[in-house]
Amino acid sequence: MSVAKPAAFGDATAIAALVASGDRTAAAVVDDHLARIAEHEGDVHAFNLVMADDARSAAAAVDEAIAAGETPGRLAGVPVAIKDNMCTRGVPTTCSSKILEGWEPPYTATVVDRLVAEGAIPVGKTNLDEFAMGSSTENSAFGATKNPYDLDKVPGGSSGGSAAAVAAGFAPASLGSDTGGSIRQPASLCGVVGVKPTYGAVSRYGLIAFGSSLDQIGPFTTTVGDAALLYEVIAGDDPLDSTASPQPALPVSSKLDAGVDGLRVGIITEMAGDVIEGISGDVLARLRAAADALAAAGAVVDEVSVPSTVYGLPAYYMVAPAEASSNLARFDGVRYGLRADGTNTAAMNMASRTAGFGPEVKRRIMLGTYALSAGYRDAFYGKAQQIRTKITEDFDSAYENFDVLLSPASPSTAFALGDKTADPLTMYLNDVCTIPSNLSGHPAMSVPFGVGDDGLPIGVQVLAPMLGEVVMFQVAAELERAGA
Ligand code: GLN
Repeated sequence: MSVAKPAAFGDATAIAALVASGDRTAAAVVDDHLARIAEHEGDVHAFNLVMADDARSAAAAVDEAIAAGETPGRLAGVPVAIKDNMCTRGVPTTCSSKILEGWEPPYTATVVDRLVAEGAIPVGKTNLDEFAMGSSTENSAFGATKNPYDLDKVPGGSSGGSAAAVAAGFAPASLGSDTGGSIRQPASLCGVVGVKPTYGAVSRYGLIAFGSSLDQIGPFTTTVGDAALLYEVIAGDDPLDSTASPQPALPVSSKLDAGVDGLRVGIITEMAGDVIEGISGDVLARLRAAADALAAAGAVVDEVSVPSTVYGLPAYYMVAPAEASSNLARFDGVRYGLRADGTNTAAMNMASRTAGFGPEVKRRIMLGTYALSAGYRDAFYGKAQQIRTKITEDFDSAYENFDVLLSPASPSTAFALGDKTADPLTMYLNDVCTIPSNLSGHPAMSVPFGVGDDGLPIGVQVLAPMLGEVVMFQVAAELERAGA
């Protein structure tokens, strides 16, 4: 059964315009969305927490400010859903893990503050794979999220709740985090736009870290224009995040109507069918159709080899777990959340971590600790870092001849719940097309481009060089116009 209804009450741009002009109140907009959530959330389970009361008071405040003649924000009255690994002061933030039980952050993530400063209304915290480790949202300690297009299928992951919330019409926009594909893959499976900005383009202050050299926050929306708007609101320097780029938000809305005449578009050979195995025929057909649409609009389309991308997956599964094993050391039963009893401190730490973390998180911590251990560090972690450098170099040479690259976002459409849970390696393969841009730090996004043989959504990935967001959005907008 499908309960999909993206932009059920209008997209973010349209809602903000109506609220700013006084044609609709933020209160009415929020009530519409809360009613839709009440009707279908039981089927979808996009949220760990619906913030109905907070949302209603925030909407009332927006309406009062507008009535008082204040300039409405760029997102006035727009309901937004926030992935539950981003801190919200005084509101439980769980990472879909039992280990954070009862914890309420004492501060709010910069991205959430920036949305709210523009009049957006957080309506809830969305479900994810525990600590963002997974590709189906089935690793959540609180149960899986379902794909709104087919409730027997996964929404992708790890930001499955954020993607599903937008696809189901619970909010016109949401935030996710992408360490290896966790925005782009669920965006593809849920038929929405999902953007991973350049590493450092968006502040991660208040994002609970998974792989610090890879993590990036980005938006889910129903249109490319909305994604550009959200990006422009959340991007830009932040004194609270030392890894944030000093660059102000790039003007990604400026070229959405510019077309692609003369732009050079390269289809990544390794992801076009023959080299990386397991990409399904219908996904490849949509990739070709997207390339044809861009060519028809005047782009110069060719294939380009980015050879080392085939090693992205094994390199990622050294680097990401290594960083996770270090980042997750802070969850020790002492300072946050769950504490299980033990006869001394070490026993208490072990009991708390044993009870608090799920199997995938434990697997990553062990893998990462092993990869960093004396005698193995150079062979595993060191080698992975060399591959990472090579991938960045290969992308950089491709961008000498191409403005953007094109590939699938996910190797298949949404798969059945339970289908891949027994075999972690099969699950990891979902990110084969998305991981290379996390390793290189380059921006990439998934744009819906038709459906597969099963009638479920397929996204095409547009990749761009470092801080190449403007041209990336320009090409994405053309794909959107070309439709499917
Ligand atoms: N699926 C990948 C993983 O499990 C990527 C997750 C992510 O981007 N957060 O690590």
